[in-house]
Amino acid sequence: MTQAQTPPLLEVSQLSKTYHLNNSLLQRLAREPVLALKAVDRVSFSVRAGETLGLIGESGCGKSTLARIVLRLHEPTSGRIVFDGADITALPYREMTALRRRMQIIFQDPYASLNPRKSVLDIVGLPMAIQGISRRSEIRDRVVAMIESVGLKSEYLNRFPHQFSGGQRQRIGIARALILNPSLVVCDEPVSALDVSVQAQIISLLKALKRELGLTYIFISHDIGVIGHVSDRIAVMYLGEIVETGPSRSLLTAPQHPYTKALLSSVPRIDVRQKSERVKLSGDLPSPLSPPAGCKFHTRCPFVFDRCRVEAPVLRPRGPESAAACHLLEAP
Ligand code: SF4
Repeated sequence: MTQAQTPPLLEVSQLSKTYHLNNSLLQRLAREPVLALKAVDRVSFSVRAGETLGLIGESGCGKSTLARIVLRLHEPTSGRIVFDGADITALPYREMTALRRRMQIIFQDPYASLNPRKSVLDIVGLPMAIQGISRRSEIRDRVVAMIESVGLKSEYLNRFPHQFSGGQRQRIGIARALILNPSLVVCDEPVSALDVSVQAQIISLLKALKRELGLTYIFISHDIGVIGHVSDRIAVMYLGEIVETGPSRSLLTAPQHPYTKALLSSVPRIDVRQKSERVKLSGDLPSPLSPPAGCKFHTRCPFVFDRCRVEAPVLRPRGPESAAACHLLEAP
C-alpha cells in the first residue's frame, strides 16, 4: 500500500472553535456586548498513519488551539473529529481519558511544562499512573527504558527539572509523551524555545523515534525551515483557517497561495541561483476578534483586488493532494 492509499489515522471535518469573551454574569447584567473570538474556523484535514503533517503559521493563527481541540483538551464549537475510524467528537470524559493513551502531546516550553517539584521518574511515569498502572517496579522499568531511548541516562531518574539543560528537559517531555506507546503525537512548537544547535538534535531525535516506533506526528511550528525539514505534508494556517495544503516538496518549491509565498520569502537563501518569486509580508496579523471581511489575508496581500475585500475564497483542489484558497488561482 502506498502512502497515498494508507487510510487516515485522523480525520478532521469543518472544525471550529469560538471563544466568547466579556461573558461573565456581571458583564451580561451590564449588557456589555459579547465578543466572539473565532480561533479556528471550519478547518478540515486528515493525517495518515506514519506521516508527519506540518502545521505552519504565525503566532496567534490558531494552530496550537486546533491541535488541542483535536486531542479534546479543548472542546470544539462545531465540526467532527474521527480517530482511527471512530468519531471522538463527543466521546465522554472517561472514554477520552482511556483514548489519550494513543494521542499525546509534546509541549513547546520545556521549562513551564515540567513540574519543578517532581522527579524525572514521577514526571515520565505520571501518564502510566493516570492509566491505572500502579506497580512501582513496572513504572520504574518502563521509565528507565524510555528515558534511555530519548538519550538520557538512567541515573537521572531521581533528579529534578532544574538540574537539566533546555534540551534535556525537552527530552524528558518527549519521554513523557511516548511512555504509553501512542499512535498520534502532537509536537507543539517543540524546538522553538531551544538554542539552534539543540533544535537540530531534538528534531533528529523526533525523526528517529518516529521511524523506530511507527509514530504519526502533527508538527506545529512558525518556522517554515523546521516544518519543511520534518513534514511529509504541510498545512498553512492564517487567522484560524487553512489557506494552503499539499505535499511538502511541492508546497515548498511551488507555493500557490500568496501567504505561503510570503512565508517562504522570509527565509534567507544561501543559493543565489534560486530566483523564485519573492512576496513581502507587511504589517501584523489582524486581531482574530475583528478579522477582515472577505479574504482574511487581504489587508496584507500584495495581490489584493476588489473581490478579495468582499468574498472569502474557498479552499479548492489545485493539483494532486494540493489545495489553496485564493481568488487569483481561479480561472477567469
Ligand atoms: Fe490575496 Fe485576494 Fe488571494 Fe486573498 S484572495 S490571498 S487577498 S489575491
